[in-house]
Amino acid sequence: MHLMSLTLRGFKSFASATTFEFAPGINAVVGPNGSGKSNVLDALAWVMGEQGAKSLRGGSMKDVIFAGSGDGVQRAPLGRAKVTLTFDNSDGTLSIPADRVQISRTMFRSGGSEYEINGSPARLSDIQDLLSEAGLGQDMHVLVGQGQLDAVLHATSQQRRDMIEQAAGVVKYRRRQEKTSRKLESVASNLTRLSDLANELDSQLQPLSDQAESAATARQLQGRIRQLESVLLARQLGVLQAEQAQALASEAEGTRRAEGLS
Ligand code: ATP
Repeated sequence: MHLMSLTLRGFKSFASATTFEFAPGINAVVGPNGSGKSNVLDALAWVMGEQGAKSLRGGSMKDVIFAGSGDGVQRAPLGRAKVTLTFDNSDGTLSIPADRVQISRTMFRSGGSEYEINGSPARLSDIQDLLSEAGLGQDMHVLVGQGQLDAVLHATSQQRRDMIEQAAGVVKYRRRQEKTSRKLESVASNLTRLSDLANELDSQLQPLSDQAESAATARQLQGRIRQLESVLLARQLGVLQAEQAQALASEAEGTRRAEGLS
């Protein structure tokens, strides 16, 4: 895998689209002081996901957008900066089934920033994951800017160890480990929530089974009441029928007596 080209549009001093073609091996960018050599390095760091304005030698992130120029040809500030990086991936170092991998980042003066991988929208984490597979990207010490060499030479043994570990590619595994730990934490917190829920449901189960038992008893009692009510009605019917028979007999007796008297 090697870097094939870098295109800057509206990035720092590069107002017009400018493409740098790189060959495998060592490439050198030369130019007078202030001509934008370090801006090329900043563009590389920026498109690979750099988030710190200070690392890009600016006060705020929007300082990467062309701010206009007064010298020579006068140009107005631009509304966006875009940098596109093209890798030769014919050896398949990057886990994308393509011989060429293009990564681009766009930032708008109105706010908002976009990333793309081979023309499709991507997240910053996608870019970081992809590049870390090749030992590239933020915190990998692949870019050493002006003045940073001094920091390397004066580093403490711990800082030197960190740098060596990062250069040896430990960072990508650390990033994966952090990602996995975050996932594990979220799974653990989901488990805790689930076990709380199970406990809560458990505590509701006993009252519910009590209620079910009471409902069954109530159903049995209602059946018994209906049974007793029909027995009572049958008895009342019997009494009424006897009274009716007696009344009919008395009436017949009365009629007989009345006929005897007449
Ligand atoms: P040296 O050799 O002195 O280190 P260099 O070639 O690395 O210089 P850079 O530091 O890359 O030069 O570029 C500095 C130039 O970029 C300055 O002229 C500065 O005005 C210009 N510049 C930086 N940011 C912007 C911006 N947002 N808009 C327009 N010009 C910018």
